[in-house]
Amino acid sequence: MERTFIAVKPDGVQRGLVGAIIGRFEAKGYKLLALKALVPTKELASTHYEALSSKPFYGGLVDFICSGPVVAMVWGGGDIVKCARAMIGETSPSASAPGSIRGDYGVEVGRNVIHGSDAVATAEREIALWFGDEGVM
Ligand code: ATP
Ligand code: MG
Repeated sequence: MERTFIAVKPDGVQRGLVGAIIGRFEAKGYKLLALKALVPTKELASTHYEALSSKPFYGGLVDFICSGPVVAMVWGGGDIVKCARAMIGETSPSASAPGSIRGDYGVEVGRNVIHGSDAVATAEREIALWFGDEGVM
């Protein structure tokens, strides 16, 4: 089964959007394979976003991801990497269509509620990074 890594970012957790977000993936028919809440270490967040390390917003992004609890999940299903990105919307909430998660819940690019892996290979890298040897069904 294709898998993807989804994380509700600190703004989404703080605003009480975890249930609504999980509900969308459940309603779509995807399978929840792993879930945990954690405050990411700086090392974890900077490795997660290391492809963006040359960007001017990288430091602020890493600090933000470590600023509070994140709900990290693995979901599985057909074509889920691409479909989850469609459910999430564009990087900027203002460019995201109503009906998408960022389109419905987000306002600022730096507070865009949720992360989703951008490719199958990225998903497997991110699942290994966040869940390691822990149980992923
Ligand atoms: P994510 O990887 O978090 O799912 P994404 O794949 O839509 O988001 P990326 O290009 O991977 O977008 O950027 C990672 C995160 O960096 C974005 O979710 C956003 O919070 C932040 N970001 C991206 N571009 C900008 C920007 N121009 N200014 C500030 N923050 C940005
Ligand atoms: Mg990304």
